[in-house]
Amino acid sequence: MNVLVIAAHPDDEVLGVGGTIKKLSRAGNNVKIVIMATGIKSRRSQKYSNSPKYEADNDTDKKMDKQISLLRDEAKRASKILGAKEIEFLDFPDNEMDSVSLLKVTKSIENQISSFKPDIVYTHTNFDVNIDHRVCYQATLVATRPHKGTKIKQVISYEVPSSTEWFFPSSFSPNIFVDISKEISSKKHALKAYKNEIRGFPHPRSVDALEHISKRWGTVSGFNHAEAFYLVRKLD
Ligand SMILES: [Zn+2]
Repeated sequence: MNVLVIAAHPDDEVLGVGGTIKKLSRAGNNVKIVIMATGIKSRRSQKYSNSPKYEADNDTDKKMDKQISLLRDEAKRASKILGAKEIEFLDFPDNEMDSVSLLKVTKSIENQISSFKPDIVYTHTNFDVNIDHRVCYQATLVATRPHKGTKIKQVISYEVPSSTEWFFPSSFSPNIFVDISKEISSKKHALKAYKNEIRGFPHPRSVDALEHISKRWGTVSGFNHAEAFYLVRKLD
């Protein structure tokens, strides 16, 4: 089976789907991760802080390029730990994906679908404070709309700790629970690959929090550790 994971930023794939990616890969499935945005915020002109224009100088550009490439190295390390077959990076603007037309984002996901031919697509949930996450969800819905002979059998949305739980009123209501008791250690290991993204407990993007969250979903589903998802659409 081919499984496509759409992630807005480097580390979303680990936080939301890390255990499941490991489990699917172990079972012999091909998992491809696509990171949509750079993960590094662009610097705006000081003078016009609300301007849509960027006035980054050469030094700032160089610094940003370096940060982006370091972050991508971390993402590659994490994807290896999880056993994903492939990881690809697109360059949508970080935390400003709503400044790009939904059509452009949709087209880029459609391109991934036509080349990789996934059976299952994982994407963000729409119930999330992060604008890039919501754009990815909406673009995935459009890109995966069913047609005659469609190969995609399931579209599944995932939560991202430090985004989804801060959407109020909370509306992420999972109906799929994956037992990741054997994969939780790889998930934690993969998060540690993101040296600059992880925080200390009680921040939700901490190694301890991952443990608590997977146990919390475990209490809902009868597993020691679980990841929780919402089934958006299934075709049988
Ligand atoms: Zn994110």
